[in-house]
Amino acid sequence: MAATPAHSPYRGRIAPSPTGFLHLGHARTFWIAQQRARQHLGTLILRNEDLDRARCRPEFVAAMFEDLKWFGLEWSEGPDSGGPFVPYNQSERSAHYRAAFEQLKSAGFIYPCSCSRKDIQQSATAPHAEDGEPIYPGTCREKGVQDQADDTTAKVQENWRFRVSDGEAVEFVDGHFGPQRFVAGRDFGDFPVWRHDGIPSYQLAVVVDDAAMGITEVVRGEDLLLSTARQLLLHRALGFAPPAFHHCPLVRDEHGERLAKRHDALSLRALRLSGKTPEALRANWRS
Ligand code: GLU
Repeated sequence: MAATPAHSPYRGRIAPSPTGFLHLGHARTFWIAQQRARQHLGTLILRNEDLDRARCRPEFVAAMFEDLKWFGLEWSEGPDSGGPFVPYNQSERSAHYRAAFEQLKSAGFIYPCSCSRKDIQQSATAPHAEDGEPIYPGTCREKGVQDQADDTTAKVQENWRFRVSDGEAVEFVDGHFGPQRFVAGRDFGDFPVWRHDGIPSYQLAVVVDDAAMGITEVVRGEDLLLSTARQLLLHRALGFAPPAFHHCPLVRDEHGERLAKRHDALSLRALRLSGKTPEALRANWRS
């Protein structure tokens, strides 16, 4: 498939997850998102991606708003400012995800999977995608959808995966990295869309929200290029026009490793406390 992006009027988003303090890498991606929205005289929204209840903490949400504002980021729609697509906290949007899940289920795009992460990792035939996700060996793929009882409560309490078409090429032109091509079944496999505890996967939630919030361009880190390929398949399955994509090169530490929330010294908070200014932090950036 080749994606045809939807365009104007431009709507971009920044979508942090409050699972730790934001670091310089997040700030750089969000800064580019803001610049692109401004260049297009568009709207920038903030979506709080707080789905992972075990890892998201209220103090990180508060810190996230404070650090982003300190850095100079401004959004016109979000959990604090409201907007036409409320709510902007993913934890309050479960009805949207549930509707998409039902749609995928009735159209036969997804199937329940009882394999644990360990089962998949132990499978001799399971190579890993470049982003570290094991490529699902297909153990539960052929379980007949017909065999499943029509008890939606029971169904929703299982893990569900999206079935990819092995060999299908997913192509898109990235705003920064140019033409991209990934092959389903080789570069990534059947991927999770729903967790047995009722939480949608990152892939499903982000697609549902980007479509519902009218996002025309997604600006995000390079580490999510493969996720974009998976998400394009979800956009198509759900009948959405996909946004355009602009992936940003990752900020790396002095050892060449990508920044993670554990790089406390490079958290915006620590940098601010050490007396750095946002202007000084941005001084060496090229976008
Ligand atoms: N919440 C995701 C993250 O922090 C956002 C990814 C995206 O831009 O889709 O990694």
